[in-house]
Amino acid sequence: MPIQLLPPQLANQIAAGEVVERPASVVKELVENSLDAGATQIELEIEKGGSKKILIRDNGNGIAEQELVLALSRHATSKISSLADLEQICSLGFRGEALASISSVSRLTLTSKPAAQDKAWQASAEGRDMAVQVRPAAHPDGTSIEVLDLFFNTPARRRFLRSDKTEFSHIDELVKRLALSRFDVSWSLTHNGQPIRRLPLCQHQGARQKRLAAICGRAFAEQAVWIENQYQQIRLSGWILPPAACQTQAACQYSYVNGRMMRDKLLNHAIRQAYGEQLSAEQQPAFVLYLELAPSEVDVNVHPAKHEVRFHQARLVHDFVVSALADALQQSLAMAAPPSTA
Ligand code: ADP
Ligand code: MG
Repeated sequence: MPIQLLPPQLANQIAAGEVVERPASVVKELVENSLDAGATQIELEIEKGGSKKILIRDNGNGIAEQELVLALSRHATSKISSLADLEQICSLGFRGEALASISSVSRLTLTSKPAAQDKAWQASAEGRDMAVQVRPAAHPDGTSIEVLDLFFNTPARRRFLRSDKTEFSHIDELVKRLALSRFDVSWSLTHNGQPIRRLPLCQHQGARQKRLAAICGRAFAEQAVWIENQYQQIRLSGWILPPAACQTQAACQYSYVNGRMMRDKLLNHAIRQAYGEQLSAEQQPAFVLYLELAPSEVDVNVHPAKHEVRFHQARLVHDFVVSALADALQQSLAMAAPPSTA
């Protein structure tokens, strides 16, 4: 075969292979876009585990009519314009690939209205050339994105989908993780028309505690100790369960780096080490932890789905997390211990 340029849809479908693994990955990309747009209200409607429909509605900045076509094209982003921006990244997105990828493997409609624009407009991309149709629409300030029939044109991917129930459980788990990263946003999630989660915006500590209980369970919310610690420019806060309360079943294990949810090996290792021998091999640590450091100290461009980061000073971060957590756990033990008779 001679060398030839791939048609845009195929190129996008190949890119989609990296980030759009299942309906939950679509939800992740769409929610991150809403958060980057400053939304304080995010509503998700899911049908058939997301394989029939994923609808997200937000009250963020919106996309201007003249930018709708660009929003759906590959490598188009409003979030960075130089390598220097990438090294200082504060937004969740920056690759400019999600909407193009998702629209190449589904029937996607984007409807948006920035507050400064009189009317809403709607766009959808179709076919091999991914030509975008734009038409007027009715919509309040903000953006809605509807993704129908995910993987309808990529049968190999579609075959990998599990039952609706399993796919939805991935979405629910993801919404839980995201909701713990943004207490200042209200969330709602429905499946096949049934309300599954409604998490109002949290304005005070009591409301946060309530959301924590709704997501991690009452036992976790009541027994976890709050930690807040800082070393130079590195800050760690969140909740960790004292060893005596840790169970052997799967536990709440949520960690975030600069607001981005992570399953980070270095963090997990540091957490386990902080518990030390107080935790048996069968017991599961339980935590919701937020690590914050200067954006220039972490590389988020390691994995297309951004599941991983790389710390420039990995050793320093690791040791700080170990000592901050060990201190917090030590203090919780001291408080729980019976008064000494000496
Ligand atoms: P990225 O998030 O990496 O920039 P995306 O393909 O996810 O790439 O989105 C492309 C662009 O579309 C974004 O940079 C943003 O300007 C715009 N956009 C996407 N979703 C929204 C939204 N919900 N509200 C406002 N703008 C959005
Ligand atoms: Mg994005």
